[in-house]
Amino acid sequence: MLGSGAVRDNPHRGGPSQILNIDNEILMFDCGRSASTNLARTGIGCEAVDRLFLTHLHFDHIVDVPYLVFVGWIKKRKNRLQIYGPNGTKDFVTKIIRPPFQQDIESRLKHGKDITLLDPVVYEVHQASQFLLANRYQISSTFIDHAGIPTLAYRINVGNKRIVITGDGIPDEKFPEFCHGADLLSIECSGTSEFLDQQAWGSWHIGPADIAQIASEAGIKIVIIKHLVIEDITGDRTIGNSMAKQIQSHYSGEVIVAEDGLTINLS
Ligand SMILES: [Zn+2]
Repeated sequence: MLGSGAVRDNPHRGGPSQILNIDNEILMFDCGRSASTNLARTGIGCEAVDRLFLTHLHFDHIVDVPYLVFVGWIKKRKNRLQIYGPNGTKDFVTKIIRPPFQQDIESRLKHGKDITLLDPVVYEVHQASQFLLANRYQISSTFIDHAGIPTLAYRINVGNKRIVITGDGIPDEKFPEFCHGADLLSIECSGTSEFLDQQAWGSWHIGPADIAQIASEAGIKIVIIKHLVIEDITGDRTIGNSMAKQIQSHYSGEVIVAEDGLTINLS
């Protein structure tokens, strides 16, 4: 877990981002505020990220993308970064990498940098499907209802392990089937239902009761809750644990409140 936070500048939590390290192949999921710095704290450089998967294009989940791309370029990544995301990802990447940084790019090219590895290769995921078959893992997507914008959740199958990573939003009734038997579900938990009911944007997000229901129905082994907007707004650093207890009262698996730097070994 690189960044366990959400939109606001919570000094204890970076913006949404996590990595999966599969035999030193680094897959990143979302790239929010401080993702690259938190990645460096794990001993991994920007240039080592092979694939980046974006859940949706809210700024808190993507604001560190240009930094990741430019520093990976400066540090001589070996292959072009591959970015996967929902409809709009190509437009975002095209606009955020070259146009604002034209002067920077031109000046670096003058001292011999190779431009070909700068631009990421972007794949948009338009359907709920298995869209990536790599040697060591397979990745599938499903859509989540969030703020009226295309939002994906990802399922990664690695050997006999299954990991599901969501961005934000309210999963539909088929989601437990998508997660079925997962060893790990990393899911947002923006606030208690009482808190979410009071927010104009509350209906965009999920809370403890629905997480417990999904986790029980899907037979998830470990649930990580992240994106604790309620902590950002109330300043209550214990609220994550309270929400974990609420989930735990209706779900018999393990619940972990995310912290930046949290590492879970599934091998
Ligand atoms: Zn968010």
